[in-house]
Amino acid sequence: MLGMMMQSQLTLTEVMRHANANFPNSEIISVTADNPRHRYRYREAFARTAQLANALQKLGAEPGDRIATLAWNDYRHFELYYATSCSGLVCHTINPRLFPEQIAYIINHAEDRWLFIDPMFVPLLEALADQLTTVKGYVVLTDSDHMPVTDLPNAHCYEELLALEPENFDWPLLDEGTAAALCYTSGTTGNPKGVLYSHRAMVLHTYGVLMPDVFALQQDEAVLPVVPMFHVNAWAVPYAVPAVGAKLVFPGPKMGCGETLSNLIREEGVTIAAGVPTVWLALLKHLREHDQTVPSLNRVVVGGSACPWSVMEEFEQKHGVYTHHAWGMTEMSPLGTYNARVPADLPAEEARARRLKQGRAAFGVEMRIVDEQGQPPPHDGQAFGALQVRGPWICERYFKAEESALTSDGWFDTGDVATIDPQGYLGITDRTKDVIKSGGEWISSIELENFAMTQEGIAEAAVIGVSHERWAERPLLVVVAAPGAALDTRAIIRAFEGHVAKWWIPDDCILVEELPHTATGKISKKDLRQQLAEYRWPEETPA
Ligand code: AMP
Repeated sequence: MLGMMMQSQLTLTEVMRHANANFPNSEIISVTADNPRHRYRYREAFARTAQLANALQKLGAEPGDRIATLAWNDYRHFELYYATSCSGLVCHTINPRLFPEQIAYIINHAEDRWLFIDPMFVPLLEALADQLTTVKGYVVLTDSDHMPVTDLPNAHCYEELLALEPENFDWPLLDEGTAAALCYTSGTTGNPKGVLYSHRAMVLHTYGVLMPDVFALQQDEAVLPVVPMFHVNAWAVPYAVPAVGAKLVFPGPKMGCGETLSNLIREEGVTIAAGVPTVWLALLKHLREHDQTVPSLNRVVVGGSACPWSVMEEFEQKHGVYTHHAWGMTEMSPLGTYNARVPADLPAEEARARRLKQGRAAFGVEMRIVDEQGQPPPHDGQAFGALQVRGPWICERYFKAEESALTSDGWFDTGDVATIDPQGYLGITDRTKDVIKSGGEWISSIELENFAMTQEGIAEAAVIGVSHERWAERPLLVVVAAPGAALDTRAIIRAFEGHVAKWWIPDDCILVEELPHTATGKISKKDLRQQLAEYRWPEETPA
């Protein structure tokens, strides 16, 4: 027997309609290249979104066409999110930090029709334009006063296009399975792969993000997404915030700038901010050096890489800000797990151990770990396994792939290795390809890095497996010193004693000027292994 409820489609158009009808006066604040502090309200944002949808139609965009963006987090990018997806087009966000040849590959693979780009990316696209076989033209995200002179073919100015259009648009009734957005994984191996998000997945994921033990957003909050809009839709913040009518604060191209972040938080009353660990290091450094604090800020969400304890501690002790650790990936829209506030009466050591984990599965995500024999290891917080997931906002197959991306029994293998403890907390120990196997046993590089980062004077740390005659592989610790710090590598190794299993202690520690990073800001262990290909263990390494 079927239920007898209305069959309304779960689409982003409904998010936009809801926000426009109920919260027309909520604000959107942006830093842009042409304005240090742009501000307007939802009412205006969605009127301009309608103008943009009209303009896209005039440019000849057809349902299903991919419309690409190379842009920072700001209000024009926000308008593009809704104007494309809600008119049946696909918003393809591209990471401008990728190598130019990867960008060209992605644009051609996605068969993008129009490219909407921030002025600073014009030279990048001018150099690539000849190779882009499907692109009909370019729209520069600026006004006529700031429009650069360009030899890009068929180039338009965004504000000039919008000015010609009416402020309403006949939004089509879309099926919830319609593609809304496309994002390519950073592709540390092989070519980047596209994840094609549907409206239904985005709406369900929005509900997931908003849950009380997840972001728990409320109407009277101000939200600062420091995670780029070109990386997994800025963790869905541009959908979740309008769904509750809160204030959105976009940092534009100044995402890594501690001063801009501090000013935005203090002047716009930001209550919650989300980003990868490196941006918080920049903010905390600025606050420390300028003796500032951020009274309105209540919590930050940290994901993308494991969050060092020093970040959580400094936020809490100096600024009264609670840090929530979250885990996810491009293929998961990205929410997988979230570490909710631990009970206030939990003993300090236990609280710290729990908070360093990645949290519990959000409702909508199922997870399991499997060992090398395909069996489930116990959920004891110790045994490792390949982490697999399933749920309505998880990728089933990559864009244009003939084959499903799932295991034969319907799970998506994340490529992460993890533990699950009896309370259901996930602990990411490594990427599968970064796991260190010493004498047949796995060593968690993330746990070693976490401990290294608690030591004074270490700005960044990475642990990689280096081949070893007797044990097959042993951990090597590579550190970057904080400005002005003099590090004693032997003392760093000695400090591990008593904090991790004896056989986990890195056999050597070397100091480098900087570590290689991927386009999404993670340490690139692949590049680090390449850089250290010639490394040999010191003679005295115990066998
Ligand atoms: P991406 O698809 O670029 O967002 O990268 C996803 C990958 O980042 C995951 O599969 C993890 O390896 C890593 N990751 C994300 N969040 C965390 C976290 N909180 N702790 C450790 N690794 C993380």
